[in-house]
Amino acid sequence: MQKLILPLNNCQVLCGYKNEAYRKAWGRPHYGQDHWSSKDKTVWAMGSGEVVAAGFDNVYGGTAVVLYKSVYLRTGGVIDLVARCYHMSAVYVKAGQAVTTATKIGLMGNTGQYTSGEHLHVEFDTDTKWPCYTIELKNNSNIMKKGSGPDTTIDPAGVLYVKASAPDNQSAKPNADYYSRGFGLEKDFLFPEFDAPDYKALYEKEQQRYSTLVAELRKLID
Ligand SMILES: [Zn+2]
Repeated sequence: MQKLILPLNNCQVLCGYKNEAYRKAWGRPHYGQDHWSSKDKTVWAMGSGEVVAAGFDNVYGGTAVVLYKSVYLRTGGVIDLVARCYHMSAVYVKAGQAVTTATKIGLMGNTGQYTSGEHLHVEFDTDTKWPCYTIELKNNSNIMKKGSGPDTTIDPAGVLYVKASAPDNQSAKPNADYYSRGFGLEKDFLFPEFDAPDYKALYEKEQQRYSTLVAELRKLID
C-alpha cells in the first residue's frame, strides 16, 4: 500500500476535477486537477510505479502515463491507478522505467492543446487495462487514444497527499486568482498530510486501554 504525494512540491491548485466554472469556460468537463508552481517547475513521480508511456503527444504536449499499484484512497480502499500528466515542457522518463518519489518525471510547461498557460494537468484513471485511453479525445493521437467510455477517472483530491517532511518539503494552497473565479474549491486544495499520525489506530489503541481499565476497576469493585 502506498500514499501518492503531489507531483509539484510547491503546489498552487488552479482548477479542480469536473469544476463547474471550467465547464462553463471551456464547454467540456475537466477530468483532472491543474497545478502550478511559482518556484520549482520539477514534476516528480507521485509514488512507486512504472512508466507506461511518455513523450510528446500531439494533443496533450509533454505527457507521462504512470501506473501506481496499491494506492491508498482518502475515502478508504486501496486500488491500482493510472496517473497522467500533461503539458510538460520536458519529459525525463521512458516507457518501462520504474519510478519512485525521487524520480524527476519532467518539467511543468505549456505544451500541447487544451492549455492556456503554464501548468501541470494531473489526472487519475481507475481503468489500468487501458492506461492511454481517454474519453476526452475525439480522435486517436500519437500517445493518447480515443476512449469509448464509461468515464473511469477519479478526483485527484481524493488521492493525493501533501508531504511536508524532507526531502520533498511540500506545500499546497489555492491560487488566489483562480480561486476567486471559482476554478478551485476548498476540497480541491485541502490535501491530507502524508506524515500525519494514524488517528484511527491511535483511537482504537486508546479504546482498548480504556476497556482494560474499566474491566480492572470492575474486578476491584466486585
Ligand atoms: Zn487540466
